[in-house]
Amino acid sequence: MNKIVIGNLKMNLQSIEERERYLKEFSKELIGKKFQNTEIVLCLPFVHLEGFKKWKNKKVIRGALNVFWEDKGSFTGEISPLMLKNFGCQYVVVGHSERRKYAREEDSDVNLKIIAALRNGIKPILCVGENAGQKARGLNIILEQLKNCLSEVSGGKIENIIICYEPVWAISSNNPDHLPTTNEIMSAGLIIKKFLVGKYGVKISEKVKIIYGGSVSVATVKQACVESGMDGALIGRESLTPREFLKIGEIINQ
Ligand code: PEP
Repeated sequence: MNKIVIGNLKMNLQSIEERERYLKEFSKELIGKKFQNTEIVLCLPFVHLEGFKKWKNKKVIRGALNVFWEDKGSFTGEISPLMLKNFGCQYVVVGHSERRKYAREEDSDVNLKIIAALRNGIKPILCVGENAGQKARGLNIILEQLKNCLSEVSGGKIENIIICYEPVWAISSNNPDHLPTTNEIMSAGLIIKKFLVGKYGVKISEKVKIIYGGSVSVATVKQACVESGMDGALIGRESLTPREFLKIGEIINQ
């Protein structure tokens, strides 16, 4: 499959009942839908991973929203990549701006998480992107984050990473002025590609999916993800409504 659509459920679904309602609605909305070219991934909070694993829907791939960089041991409160794997996860989000902001994660932490995830066969979804104050040097910020977060990641592993350009200022916005233009997203995509080609060569880089995240909806997906040549989307707010999320998936799948 050459496209991917990923739901970031963030800190939502407050109870088992809420999760079950959500997954039931998701199953209902999936009926009759085919995604020949697109992987559909949902990343859920840790507490829902066991229930998520029991939800046997073959059309959806499971993912988590954070991971620690050690496999086991005395790391109170942390969750290892091995645990994620054993709970059925194939993907994990790393480097998200909300973790950078609220948990003070640095590129060096993200790098350790990526290496640990890859070591355990989990595919990292690496978020990079500038915040509002960094807008003028956005492309440099992306390059710096890529350089730091992908340090020591070999060419043999890079195809298992999804890179998401997610400008922090565009997340969960209702304001169309707070969305990057198609050209801006294309430029970010190109700079990411250029970095990958420089580090890993053309052949390997072609296998890496580069996606866009930040206020993707049915109304914005064409401009943000299709016309900009992205390989898919990371979706926050709209992933809470299965019908909208899957409509976005269908547009990307076309
Ligand atoms: C996100 O925070 O990863 C995200 C994509 O959010 P939203 O779609 O709500 O902008």
